[in-house]
Amino acid sequence: MFMNVCDSSGTLSVILMIKHVITFFKILVPIILILVSAYDLFFTVIDVKNKVYSKIMKRMIALVCIFFIPTFLGLFFNLIGTSNLFNSSCWTNANTETIAVLRNQEKLAEEAEEAAEAAEAKKAEELRKNIEETREEYRKKNEERAAEERRKQEEQKQQQGADDATLYHENGKDGMVEVINGVFYKPVNGKSGVEGSKGSAPYGYNKYFYNRLMAFVNAGKAAGHTINIGANDYVAWRPYAKQEYFYNCYITKSCNNGNLAAVPGTSNHGWGIASDLSFGSPAALYWAHDNCSKFGLRFPICENVRGSCVENWHIEPAELKSK
Ligand SMILES: [Zn+2]
Repeated sequence: MFMNVCDSSGTLSVILMIKHVITFFKILVPIILILVSAYDLFFTVIDVKNKVYSKIMKRMIALVCIFFIPTFLGLFFNLIGTSNLFNSSCWTNANTETIAVLRNQEKLAEEAEEAAEAAEAKKAEELRKNIEETREEYRKKNEERAAEERRKQEEQKQQQGADDATLYHENGKDGMVEVINGVFYKPVNGKSGVEGSKGSAPYGYNKYFYNRLMAFVNAGKAAGHTINIGANDYVAWRPYAKQEYFYNCYITKSCNNGNLAAVPGTSNHGWGIASDLSFGSPAALYWAHDNCSKFGLRFPICENVRGSCVENWHIEPAELKSK
């Protein structure tokens, strides 16, 4: 125990200081005693000289005592068998050289400890950095993925918009039908099916309507469905006389299955902006009804192809007005 305490430069420094103090007193005390005694000898009255000598003697004895206090204490400790400071390695090692060596050792130990701590901290820092980097990488990847997704959606939207733009925003006149920004206008007081009501596209279709129809039919084909547009004067552009015939059938129910027919001169067929389609399969019929709006078309008489529906074949431009 004692040895361990004395292995520290701090303890040894304290002991060294005690040593210095003792040395200091060993020098100072005799000087004071000599000075005081000399004073007594010179300035004290003769008849009390005896007293002065005895005084000086006492001082000499005290001086000797002070000198030998450590030795006496050492002897005393030895006698009673306890450890003895003045005989111990503590006392002997309490010198500047040993303290310097110890200090150096302590410094090295401290440095080693600091280095170990620094290494530990560095390791922790690296680990933390690694975790952060991984997290950052993950976050970046996610962001990139989201941005890519957004970009794709935006592209699709723009593509759709471009498609819509070409499909829905035509301007021009064909036959007697004017198309303004994709809206079809038929003459409010005109008679359809008469001279001049025919469009310039095949089968007398209005060319804008025909373009939409063909895009629609081709998209259906690409999706695996057969859709045929009306291609004769019954089901495409229809002359006034044909309309009269159909209207008569509708009224009398004696021909054409009594199908619905507009009053002659009012049918949209007569303007080249209606078509009676035929479908390769029920799937084609459903596809046509589900997708016609994307091509600026609609089935105006059929509300719901899977439910309440009249004439699921009759198709027209989505926006049709009179002017
Ligand atoms: Zn029709």
